[in-house]
Amino acid sequence: MRGDELRSRYAAAFMPNYGVPPVALARGEGCRVWDADGRAYLDLIAGIAVSSLGHGHPALIEAVSAQAAALAHTSNLFLHEPEVLLAERLRELLDGDGRVFLANSGTEANECALKLAIKYGRANGRSHIVAAENSFHGRTLGALALTGKQAIREPFGPYGIDVRFVPYGDADALAAAVDEHCAAVFLEPTQGEAGVVPPPDGYFAAVRRICDATGALFVADEIQSAIGRTGAWFAWRHENARPDVLTLAKGLGGGLPIGACVALGEHGEIFAKGDHGSTFGGNPVNAAAALAVLATIEKEGLLGNAAQVGEVLAAGIAAVDHPLLAGVRGRGLWRAAVLTGPHAPAAEAAARDAGFLVNAVQPDALRLAPPLILTAAEAESFTGALPSILDAAAAAAKES
Ligand SMILES: *Cc1c(COP(=O)(O)O)cnc(C)c1O
Repeated sequence: MRGDELRSRYAAAFMPNYGVPPVALARGEGCRVWDADGRAYLDLIAGIAVSSLGHGHPALIEAVSAQAAALAHTSNLFLHEPEVLLAERLRELLDGDGRVFLANSGTEANECALKLAIKYGRANGRSHIVAAENSFHGRTLGALALTGKQAIREPFGPYGIDVRFVPYGDADALAAAVDEHCAAVFLEPTQGEAGVVPPPDGYFAAVRRICDATGALFVADEIQSAIGRTGAWFAWRHENARPDVLTLAKGLGGGLPIGACVALGEHGEIFAKGDHGSTFGGNPVNAAAALAVLATIEKEGLLGNAAQVGEVLAAGIAAVDHPLLAGVRGRGLWRAAVLTGPHAPAAEAAARDAGFLVNAVQPDALRLAPPLILTAAEAESFTGALPSILDAAAAAAKES
């Protein structure tokens, strides 16, 4: 089916919550995808930081096909080898520590963390939770209660959970909000949906100190930042601010839907039998995919690649001198080109016309979260085209 027909049928069949996306994608290979009309694009967003191995990676195809053929589903009434190996591998990456719960998405990983925090709080006379302004933790009601983006939070509240919001990156504000009545602090290591906004240096070391001093749990929402995105398995490693609870999802399954909540140290025993569950969570096919992703990142040196090619990408953007471009921020293969005004939607469209998929994550920020296999030459093909993309965005702004 052609793209325009797919788009009009989509518009009639789906709820309007996403609008109608501009491109219907049909297939992919490596960092390249093709739309329904056969046009090729360099994929610099990877399905929102998800397709960590790119598209059609043989290791992922092999793992998923073999597992689907052997056994696709068990439910939690039975256990299976891929989930055991995956939980053990995640523990290895966390220095042998942690107890794992497997879910199907990011928001569900955070629901698990929130239930842990509530149970921990009830056992210890702690009733409130602290999160950051402009944070994003997901769309289900518990995760939405933690989400500091007013526009998506307010229409569905109140939530019946005492969540207090503090400015992100302000350690003094955090210290003022966290006391011995606080159950948990939920924070992203860098705010992804807010526009790939990193905190000031030293912030997470302060977060760890504040939580240690008060006994509040530090929950790191690494749903977007983990599994190599920043050049490390986990972004908390950059400041060595080890969380008490860690949530993962996006990049973990390489495109298959899986989330994980890992509780470290004694917090691994907060839940008792019966406290939580999921029919699909830890599904054998998704667990096999995640194992393949973790093995391939290691085998192909993709942490190093994300760090190195991320520098090439950032340096290439920083070298562009254009009135629409203010700068670049982020780490590894997780960057935002920061614009001087609300030009991101026009720049996203101009990039698409030039054959690059990027994301206008904020009115003034273009997010880049490509597959971790991106090459320096691919990064440079985008930064080389950036001046003309920004020219086209400026011209479109003039016309409208
Ligand atoms: C994407 C994201 C979520 C939600 O994940 P879903 O899989 O969309 O439910 C939560 N937290 C962060 C930091 C995210 O980036």
